[in-house]
Amino acid sequence: MTKGSVPEYFGCMVFDDRVMRSVLSSDVYSSLRKTIEVGAKLELGLADSVAKAMRDWAIEKGATHFTHWFQPLTGVTAEKHDSFIEPSPDGGVIMEFSGKELIQGEPDASSFPTGGIRATFEARGYTTWDPTSYAFIKDQTLCIPTAFCSYGGEALDKKTPLLRSMEALNRQALRILRLFGNTSTKYVRSSVGPEQEYFLISKEMYDMRPDLRFTGRTLFGARPPKGQEMDDHYFGAIKPKVAEFMEDLNEELWKLGIMAKTEHNEVAPAQHELAPIYSTTNIATDHNQLTMEIMQKTASKHGLVCLLHEKPFDGVNGSGKHNNWSIATDEGQNLLSPGETPYENAQFLLFLCAVIKAVDDYQDLLRISVATAGNDHRLGANEAPPAVISMFLGDELNAVLEAIENDTPYKGAEKTQMKLGVDVLPKFNRDTTDRNRTSPFAFTGNKFEFRMLGSSNSIACANIMLNAAVAESLKIYADRLEGASDFESALHDMIKKTIKDHKRIIFNGNGYDEAWIKEATEVRGLLNFRTTADCMPHLLDKKNVDMLTSHKVFSVEELQSRCEIMLENYCKTVTIEANTMVDMAKTQIAPAVSAFAADTARNAQSKKTLDSANACGYETGLVKKLSELTDRISLKVDELQGALVKLHDAEDIISESVMIRDSVLQKMCELRVACDEAETCTAKSYWPFPTYADILFSVR
Ligand code: ADP
Ligand code: MG
Repeated sequence: MTKGSVPEYFGCMVFDDRVMRSVLSSDVYSSLRKTIEVGAKLELGLADSVAKAMRDWAIEKGATHFTHWFQPLTGVTAEKHDSFIEPSPDGGVIMEFSGKELIQGEPDASSFPTGGIRATFEARGYTTWDPTSYAFIKDQTLCIPTAFCSYGGEALDKKTPLLRSMEALNRQALRILRLFGNTSTKYVRSSVGPEQEYFLISKEMYDMRPDLRFTGRTLFGARPPKGQEMDDHYFGAIKPKVAEFMEDLNEELWKLGIMAKTEHNEVAPAQHELAPIYSTTNIATDHNQLTMEIMQKTASKHGLVCLLHEKPFDGVNGSGKHNNWSIATDEGQNLLSPGETPYENAQFLLFLCAVIKAVDDYQDLLRISVATAGNDHRLGANEAPPAVISMFLGDELNAVLEAIENDTPYKGAEKTQMKLGVDVLPKFNRDTTDRNRTSPFAFTGNKFEFRMLGSSNSIACANIMLNAAVAESLKIYADRLEGASDFESALHDMIKKTIKDHKRIIFNGNGYDEAWIKEATEVRGLLNFRTTADCMPHLLDKKNVDMLTSHKVFSVEELQSRCEIMLENYCKTVTIEANTMVDMAKTQIAPAVSAFAADTARNAQSKKTLDSANACGYETGLVKKLSELTDRISLKVDELQGALVKLHDAEDIISESVMIRDSVLQKMCELRVACDEAETCTAKSYWPFPTYADILFSVR
């Protein structure tokens, strides 16, 4: 099946730099490069040449259609396919694709969420080509990565604000670099390597569970006799069926130029992880969306289903995404890497402080950026970081910061004092910076790992907030330093002040510890937004709106619409789950338990007929217990339905989300407890769908 060696077919479905260089004239190529690198506008004439070259390349690869590929606020990608064909005068067709079609599209966008930005009568939205992310071929279709906006120019997608946030970070970081005497750097970009967790289960089992099919997670299921307690799955040998899937997946991803690098089993049974080599945030985001799509497609080819839900199984670790983030110059200098010279070190510490300040000042935005109904089940459940944001820096870096803050000697090196611009920092050992796995936001030697993202989330949201918040710190620093008479002492003071003001966000202990949550919230005053309903309205807090609009990452209208859409999404998700539970409990679980009770009662009856002295203690007790359970299930179904009906009284989306959080989720929990207990008392042959043990150990 494999088409030659990996280097031969890697990226064969991508209109990448290698292809551009070989098929475009040198004029067109260099203009396009300029557009890609510094955003210079591409003339329509040149776009025509690019389109023609793309079309020829795509047709040769078997493509018949093209689509603008975009990321609306549904969280998944969208595409509308057009074929290349145009009628020709002789009654046949020719294959056409113009520069105009490459640059702009006009999908009928009335069904995408807009949060009220665009009245439904004004259904036009348009997509614009993002030349910084390469076009690629998928399913015989040339896919052109695009941004998606309303006719009035408001972003209706995740790419637009992401590109704006990268630009904001670039603007402010360049100011800082110039202050350090750097005149050569052309641009600064953030890079991301997202580690993606997922579950693989058998398709046969999946098809038998309405909850998995409708909601992506199990809404019922008693604990299996064996779960993850042995930790025997983590990094364990990969089972043959899974290995076949991974091999196929890698090949598909490599063809699309996605650098899938590592794969291993995760903690939970049936759980796995895939990590690519990091790339520019924009491309990493597109690639992660594609990776999730290809994972699901490839799984189904193998008779498997890939679950990307954050918490598919209760009592078993859920899935997240680790967002490894750094900032680097076009010359390849990682600004989060301690340098070789004292001067570079001072610059490193300034960027480090910018991140510390950003994470503390915008804890709420970071929490919001990962908030979904699914991820609420993970954060704080002793398997993923808590909902409280804190940062881990490691002992060495911590000691350096302490020395700066207190003007005391730094113990690690044989120094008398940490003097910025004079002393060289020690090289931080990766091993000592990477030990803490419980921190939401950890420094890992030359990058930060933001670990709160949910597995199904687009990484765009987290990176938009991260880029914007760091841009804001850098802006404040640049404003101050540009006006300083003595650069070095101003720099030293500012770093010291940042450490003093923001050290509350630094925590190097165990993030899963209850005592930490108490300390974080009660002593340090850190935020603890347990649910999406708690945090989302804070998107519109003045400080957040001011920051995000001042860097032109979002407009006020865009923020209002996003808040609305995210809360709507939360409410809809939970409502669908609740309705699915009601349905399963009424039409599958209760009838099964009742049938088992009836048969057990009949058995007792016939035993008595044969042996009148038989008390049938087992059967009698069981029937009693089962009828109690069916009564309880029926009562809990009624209560849940009652809670759902009450949602109609909600005045707005915020109050609806609060009702969901406080009553619907509670009632769902109670119904589940009753049903799970029934599962443990009902004969397996009566149970209407596969159990946890069946599903979790189904793939060999
Ligand atoms: P782990 O966290 O599992 O120990 P690594 O730290 O090696 O693994 O890598 C995790 C991810 O971080 C990978 O996707 C890797 O490409 C990415 N990564 C490595 N260096 C950087 C960097 N400077 N900026 C962003 N991501 C990076
Ligand atoms: Mg990691």
